[in-house]
Amino acid sequence: CRDTSGALPVLGRDVLVPLVTGGEVTYAALDYAASAPALQRVWDDVAAYAPYYGSVHRGAGYLSQLSTELFENARHAVAEFLGCRDGDQVVFTRSTTDSLNLLAAALPAECEVFVFETEHHASLLPWREARVTYLDAPHTPEEAVRALERALADRDPYGLALVCVTGASNVTGELWPVRELAAAAHSHGARIVLDAAQLAPHHPVSVRELDVDWVAFSGHKLYAPFGSGVLAGRGDWLQDAEPYLAGGGASRKVARRADGGVDVEWHTTAARHEAGSPNVIGAYAIASACKALTEAGFDTLVAREQQLVSAVRAGLAEVPEVRVLSLFGDDAPRVGVLSFVVDGWNSSHFAAALSAEYGIGVRDGLFCAHPLVRTLLGTEPQTQGECGAPEAAPGEKSLNAIRVSFGAGTPDEHVERFVRAVK
Ligand code: PMP
Repeated sequence: CRDTSGALPVLGRDVLVPLVTGGEVTYAALDYAASAPALQRVWDDVAAYAPYYGSVHRGAGYLSQLSTELFENARHAVAEFLGCRDGDQVVFTRSTTDSLNLLAAALPAECEVFVFETEHHASLLPWREARVTYLDAPHTPEEAVRALERALADRDPYGLALVCVTGASNVTGELWPVRELAAAAHSHGARIVLDAAQLAPHHPVSVRELDVDWVAFSGHKLYAPFGSGVLAGRGDWLQDAEPYLAGGGASRKVARRADGGVDVEWHTTAARHEAGSPNVIGAYAIASACKALTEAGFDTLVAREQQLVSAVRAGLAEVPEVRVLSLFGDDAPRVGVLSFVVDGWNSSHFAAALSAEYGIGVRDGLFCAHPLVRTLLGTEPQTQGECGAPEAAPGEKSLNAIRVSFGAGTPDEHVERFVRAVK
């Protein structure tokens, strides 16, 4: 079973890109952690639906009715994919960032938030208007659970609290002990939201089995790059909160008051936070990807991806100048995401050379997780753009890193080319 990837073809594998050395080569997309290529199946489903596109929840015509049905069916498909419980809501958003900002806007007053400094900025930053405790980077999964237990034990046991944690790091690819962190949160009366942006494309994610209160992910990392994301989970805080956006679709009844003002009755379903015409194609594409991944089977997908992880690890281990970044230790389980630095190389030049000379697309930088990357590299904060590429002077520590990431549809040849190029 060397090429089980063929079971789930992705777009873009045959795209030719020019090389500085002359000629062309097929593009090797090894930047799935930023945005994964669309599954062929998603593209086909979207193309088949496109002629039938119509407004959702806003039209009496046949195509509007059909689109409304597809949109709501997409919600059910996502709920099924995520193993949602009765009463859970699935809100379609733009992305993981949008989903977590929506939850942050819906936090009840006085809710405290606990978050590890190692999070992606999308999980680290939205809570800043609440009382936030930032936890230091742990060095083992067990230490993460102990640190959370300790922090939660110190708080007012009758107060509301939320823990936000990632399922798989976008920098190291390492898996976080989500079930154990959820158990720790709940045993101290706190709730937990899972940032599954990097986990959901690679592993089954069940809110019921992991016992998390919410989960957030992005369509474009789940092979469905059509502009939608998801926040799914408990409805109570969401339906008590002010709508994320005020507007049509979120309101059930709007009327002028005798004093001249306006009274609004908001929906208490997911529609409360989906004001405006929804992105039906984005939602439909996510549902299509959920079904395709489920049908292909995560057992098959994980086994295939782990073959690729092993090949990359073994290849990089043969290059003494390469240091793979890891928080939990070299053997920690990880998804198909690895970051590394190369002694004597500026990471940005290295990544640029992989593209220009080999047609390989990776990412360089601090991966929107500045505190984590600095901890891993042992460097001090620098002033730079969010995804900028600071230069390390010769002989100095790298100030940023290179990330290679892959998943469904990645052929052996892409990984082999990458290892050859690094060597
Ligand atoms: N969380 C993690 C772990 C991520 O990797 C990313 C994207 N790199 C995000 C959140 C934010 O996702 P998006 O850019 O789709 O909002």
